[in-house]
Amino acid sequence: MVRRALITGGSRGIGAACARALAAAGMDVTVNYAVNGGKAAQVAREIGGQAFMADVSDQRAVNEMFQCVGDVDVLVCNAGIAMQKLFTDTTAEDWRKVFSVNVDGVYNTCYCAVPHMIRNHWGRIIIISSIWGRMGASCEVAYSASKAALIGFTQALSRELGPSGITVNCVAPGVIDTDMNKRLSDDVLNELKESTPLMRIGTPEDVANTVTFLASEEASFITGQTLGVDGGFPG
Ligand code: NAP
Repeated sequence: MVRRALITGGSRGIGAACARALAAAGMDVTVNYAVNGGKAAQVAREIGGQAFMADVSDQRAVNEMFQCVGDVDVLVCNAGIAMQKLFTDTTAEDWRKVFSVNVDGVYNTCYCAVPHMIRNHWGRIIIISSIWGRMGASCEVAYSASKAALIGFTQALSRELGPSGITVNCVAPGVIDTDMNKRLSDDVLNELKESTPLMRIGTPEDVANTVTFLASEEASFITGQTLGVDGGFPG
């Protein structure tokens, strides 16, 4: 049976790598995106899937996406935004923006995806948190708090959905080479590498491989976990 997968934020970075990896594992993949239609279409073409625009923070847009795309068996909640600001400069609007994409976006997509998984007594939900959701990052309080919320969400939902044959897990990447980190200077990147036991920055494929495993039949007894893909950071 061909499993259907939806990757939120699949146009670039970690999400695009997940889309390619799940398609290579034989799944029928939908690539969600917010603005970069060209990039999403390119990924979709490459993997024989489809691209669909929906701002995950917009519940109505997410509902419409599920109506068009149909039911999915594997949901990867990857779409996210970062924000680097001193806490004292973080406005209520900044805070709401980060939470609306990073947390409400996960609620909106899971809410639409779960009923089919329950009916089918099978499902895989994989949520992309962050190492900063586990340890907190200075000047990223909103981002760290939003990513920590996803770990609690995962633990609670895994307990509720386990009896329905659905696993819910989190992946917490360390520093990964994507657009999100383009703003980091070479000096900062080198410092991060030196603080990483495996002495390198991660690749989107490092995360995608873990996501693909968690989506597989082989991971059927793993739920409620947060798996770090971080090279052992901090050393
Ligand atoms: P990225 O390169 O900035 O890509 C972000 C993706 O999310 C894009 O596909 C973007 O779509 C999509 N997106 C953003 N806002 C959206 C919205 N409102 N609705 C739908 N899609 C939206 O980011 P990345 O580094 O691959 O990060 C992916 C995930 O991993 C994020 O949740 C991030 O927090 C997490 N993470 C990243 C790192 C890292 O070091 N890179 C580390 C830990 C965790 P468009 O292309 O249309 O804008």
